[in-house]
Amino acid sequence: MKFSGKNVLITGASRGIGAEIARVLAGYGLKVWINYRSKPEVADALKAEIESSGGKAAVIEFDVTNEEAFIQGLQAIVQSDGELSYIVNNAGITNDKLALRMKTEDFTKVLEANLLSCFIGCREGLKLMSKQRFGAVVNIASIVGERGNLGQTNYAASKGGVIAMSKSFAYEGASRNVRFNCITPGFIQTDMTEALSDEIKEQYQKTIPLGRLGQSAEVAQAVAFLLSDGASYITGEVLKVNGGLYM
Ligand code: NAP
Repeated sequence: MKFSGKNVLITGASRGIGAEIARVLAGYGLKVWINYRSKPEVADALKAEIESSGGKAAVIEFDVTNEEAFIQGLQAIVQSDGELSYIVNNAGITNDKLALRMKTEDFTKVLEANLLSCFIGCREGLKLMSKQRFGAVVNIASIVGERGNLGQTNYAASKGGVIAMSKSFAYEGASRNVRFNCITPGFIQTDMTEALSDEIKEQYQKTIPLGRLGQSAEVAQAVAFLLSDGASYITGEVLKVNGGLYM
């Protein structure tokens, strides 16, 4: 895959899908900025791993829900590299409960972590990329934002919001040559899905046409495509990576 840009920020990249996105994009020659909020040793280990394979990587600590810290993080990247070509808004959380038992705070915390943080990343990214007249953003939404899910009213609202918001950013970024797209993963094997019981995982597995959970690398390759020059005429798109679970 060919990339006209040179560097990328991936939020929540110390583990799970984010870490794999960092590995894959570094493999395509981009300098990857690995954002983490806890466990610097894990982020440092990923940086070392990427560098030992000949890639370029740097770590940057901030909590995506802290607007000031997020903006400072972006400024630090531009100060270091002179530009920021791409952003992958990947950081996210769940806090599952049936709606009748869900406290308002359980709802707003997930909205803040998944949707508000993504808004900050898109808005600040658009400011920087508009000046360059070049850039692309990929937001990691979810199949749950497309079809809802039992016990996930908060998560579904946040991810559905990410999808609608990305399309709106796509309108606003288009005249400045800044593209915004979404990926909607289905069930991907990470710590997030590890938290589900074996029974629930088996139930889901039976309903997935490709007959298995997805791997982080399969999401990462889709992210790479949407950032690459090969997707230069694609904006406001939602790319499902779900094994056919929701078509
Ligand atoms: P994960 O294994 O739980 O990892 C989540 C990552 O996000 C961690 O690195 C975590 O950092 C980081 N993070 C969370 N809140 C943050 C914050 N406020 N500031 C900075 N970093 C933060 O999750 P995953 O499965 O890789 O999921 C990655 C993305 O894909 C999420 O947006 C998720 O909603 C989405 N997704 C996942 C699946 C799936 O099946 N796994 C399906 C659809 C969508 P810490 O280590 O500090 O906690």
